[in-house]
Order: sequence, then structure tokens, then C-alpha cells
Amino acid sequence: MSEGGVRPRPEGLIIAVDGPSGAGKSTITRLLSQRLGYLYIDTGAMYRAVALAVRRAGVSPDDDAALVAVCRGVEISFVRTNGCCQVLLNGEDVSAAIRTPEISMLTSRISARMVVRDVMVRLQRELGKNGGVILEGRDIGTVVFPDADLKFFLSASVDERGRRRYLELKGKGEDVLLERTIAEVAQRDEQDSRREHAPLRRADDAVDIDSTGLSIEEVVALMEGIIKEKLAASH
Ligand code: C5P
Repeated sequence: MSEGGVRPRPEGLIIAVDGPSGAGKSTITRLLSQRLGYLYIDTGAMYRAVALAVRRAGVSPDDDAALVAVCRGVEISFVRTNGCCQVLLNGEDVSAAIRTPEISMLTSRISARMVVRDVMVRLQRELGKNGGVILEGRDIGTVVFPDADLKFFLSASVDERGRRRYLELKGKGEDVLLERTIAEVAQRDEQDSRREHAPLRRADDAVDIDSTGLSIEEVVALMEGIIKEKLAASH
């Protein structure tokens, strides 16, 4: 281990970004990955892709045997075009299809099943093991990479997160209501935090970032400063 406590990894640091839905994790993590030249892994998109496959297969989210069969039949990959990440499910671009409110709720249900988490966590570890990677999700700093070099817990008030999600969905032409979107965000928080396996939880050694009232650029600059300090300490 080097002086700053950062273990050298072949390609750079492993950075974990966890937090509840609508905290800005995806946008912020994507921007940070571009600035650092790091690989960006949106683990929520992976669970969402599985949820879409479960919906299409007409399988019950409580049927573990059927869930395993679905997981075995899916290949999830990311394609980067013009700085934007497309999510592919067996080669099909499902980036839009996985972001509907219905799939968000189903994702929260299937991601509570251990059989699904086992497959996803294994895949995420494989993708990130060489470092030079920033992963965002709910359990990256606690379960997937408990030895990550740097961990952030990104949050914001539930009203602000609900409002952001509402504006995002509205911008995509979805027919949504603000109150209902805030309630759905709160319900997903509740489900993700109370589940038995890998609940949403701040890692003890995570750096807290509250993005309420901050712009995306302000949050990115704040986190980038912390990452640069860590990198300087590792040299
Ligand atoms: O981050 P995003 O809102 O896209 O995640 C969708 C859902 O996927 C979450 O509500 C959560 O239930 C699940 N998830 C998870 N573990 C992760 C990432 C996401 O359980 N690492």
C-alpha cells in the first residue's frame, strides 16, 4: 500500500458512488468519468435491463427459479456514442425502455432478490476489478467493492429528487404528475433501504455529498476535487 493509503491498481482508482434515486448519480458520475478518462458503470441500468427482460418473459418477480433463467439468458453491455451511454440488452438498445416508471418499480422488486444480485454483483466486480472505473448504484461501497479507493454517498431531499425525476420524465414526453413522482421516489427509497439483501446504506467510510440546492457543475467540481486529492496522495 502506498503512502496515501491507495492500493495501486493496473488502470487507476475504483470509485464508488451510492445514493438514493434522483440524487443525480448518473449525470454526475458520467461527467466525472469523462473528465477522469475512467470507465463508467451504471449498475442501476443493469438491474433495469434485467427487469425489462423479466417483464418481457412474463415472469413473476417472486419466482426465483424463473429469475435465474432470465438472468442466464441476458447479455447486458454499454455502448458509448458521443459521450452518451446506450444500454444494450442482448444487442438491442433499451436505454429508453428501461427508464419508464413501471420498469423503475419492477427493478426495485427484482433487485431485492438474492438470485438476481448474485449474478449482477459478479458481473460488476469483473467489469471494475482493474480500476480506472467509477461505478454508481446502491451497494457499490458496501457490497460490490467494499475496498474501493474512494466512496461517495450522494443524496438530496426527497422533494428535490422527486422534482428532478419528474422533469427528466416530462422532458422525455412521459405523462407524469409531480406529486405522484415524488411519492414513487419515496416508495423506491423505502423498498431499497428496507430490503433484506444489500439494502441502500451509506458505507461507514463514504464521503457525504448533499446535492440539494447545488447545480450539477457544483457537485461535479466538489467531487472532482476530492478525487484529485486522492490521486495526488497515491503518487
Ligand atoms: O439508479 P437507478 O434508479 O437506475 O436504479 C434502479 C433500481 O435498481 C433501484 O431503485 C434499486 O432498486 C436497484 N439497484 C440496486 N443496486 C444497485 C443499483 C440499482 O438494487 N447497485
